Amino acid sequence: MDEETYQKYKKLARGSWGKEFSLLKMMFNGFLGLMREEEDMEFELPMETILNILLNIGKARKQGRKIIMYPFNYGPELFVTMGLQPLMQEIFSVGLAPFHMNEPYLDFSNEIGYGDNPTLCNASRPLVGAYMQGAAPVPDYLFFLSTPCNSLAMNYQVFESLSNVPTYNMDVPYWAIEEDSEFYDGKVVEYMTNQCKDFVTWLEDQTKEKFEIEKFQQTMLRLNQARENIRDFNETLKNVPCPAGSQTGFWNWFFMSTIGGTQEAVDVTKFVRDSAIENVKEGVGGIEDEKLRIAWPYTHVFFDRDLFPWLEETYGAIAILDILGNYQVEPHNTSTLEKCYDSLARGTLDYSMIGSCRGPAEYYIEYVINYVKDYKVDCVIYPMQYACKHAFAMARITSEAVREATGIPSLIFGCDPYDSREVPHEAIQAKIAEFIEQVVL
Ligand code: SF4
Repeated sequence: MDEETYQKYKKLARGSWGKEFSLLKMMFNGFLGLMREEEDMEFELPMETILNILLNIGKARKQGRKIIMYPFNYGPELFVTMGLQPLMQEIFSVGLAPFHMNEPYLDFSNEIGYGDNPTLCNASRPLVGAYMQGAAPVPDYLFFLSTPCNSLAMNYQVFESLSNVPTYNMDVPYWAIEEDSEFYDGKVVEYMTNQCKDFVTWLEDQTKEKFEIEKFQQTMLRLNQARENIRDFNETLKNVPCPAGSQTGFWNWFFMSTIGGTQEAVDVTKFVRDSAIENVKEGVGGIEDEKLRIAWPYTHVFFDRDLFPWLEETYGAIAILDILGNYQVEPHNTSTLEKCYDSLARGTLDYSMIGSCRGPAEYYIEYVINYVKDYKVDCVIYPMQYACKHAFAMARITSEAVREATGIPSLIFGCDPYDSREVPHEAIQAKIAEFIEQVVL
């Protein structure tokens, strides 16, 4: 990042963000420091967009915007339409992990007896400990879904009960929406659409603001333009060499989960897509000398900022997407109000980590097999967390199915992507190195 931009954001962040956002401000400064070291000017727009997202949350109270908190597996389209400030909760509880600032709250949650790594996911568990120490943001409204796991739903329920924030909960059904699926159920989309409409009524009641249909339609139009950009970007990654680095796709998911439905999201996803297309035209890879392509059908190891750069530099290995960055919601027709609701419902059902995890294991198995085939990968790596019981179980049977269908090997290892002390960086590197050197190469 150039010095002028760095100074601009340093200035913008000045002043108090209030006690509940003081950790967010520290995180902002942490990211700003990392971006200052980043010399790749090509990524100035995504970097600035990330900083703007954090700034908008931190300044929302002072600027009189009501805040709604929600989990990472949902898009903010309705909140954008209602003029609410979206706060994807994991910006806080996971965003702290690269700087290890979440760990004191994990320790405090342990001390008070609120779960541990094998029982409750540390992606959201720090929220409870931080709230009890007065360090967590307290939104005006809370929203969460029944998926992708009990762990998340439990952490959010506990937060709801502690904070007494008005809350809406959405039930995400199990069955498939593709008519050719053996798990197809024709009532699923209607069930979701009705919940979306009910949620709109709830939001109107709570905020005393009217839901403007025209604004909703514009939001959905922009949302689907961004989906189109991401679909095209994902398509470019099928090229060899892969035209984007290991973490680029993740940012697409991040933008959809924090500013989906805004013009900023359209612009930044278009920018990411166009950069990848340009690289394909010029035969340029996301890393210098690509030798190995990895499917990563789980989350990043968030505490370990060096893992992907190490893989890239040591083995010429590129991780093609991850379970979040592998955003698979297709663009939809939004020409009528009903179609907008339909698109909203389908987007919720197909969202990253929901589409592949909300039903029988077959969804996940099919997802990983297609991932391996579409992106011509050489191996699959699952850095599995103990609390993520359903995914741990699915990873084992999926790895066997993948080997049977494609002959590609998998590595599954236990670690906590949010806690550097559980399985440290060195141990993770050693496991991956052994797998690559002994099995893949
Ligand atoms: S990582 Fe697993 S346990 Fe944690 S929120 Fe995601 S699905 Fe749930």
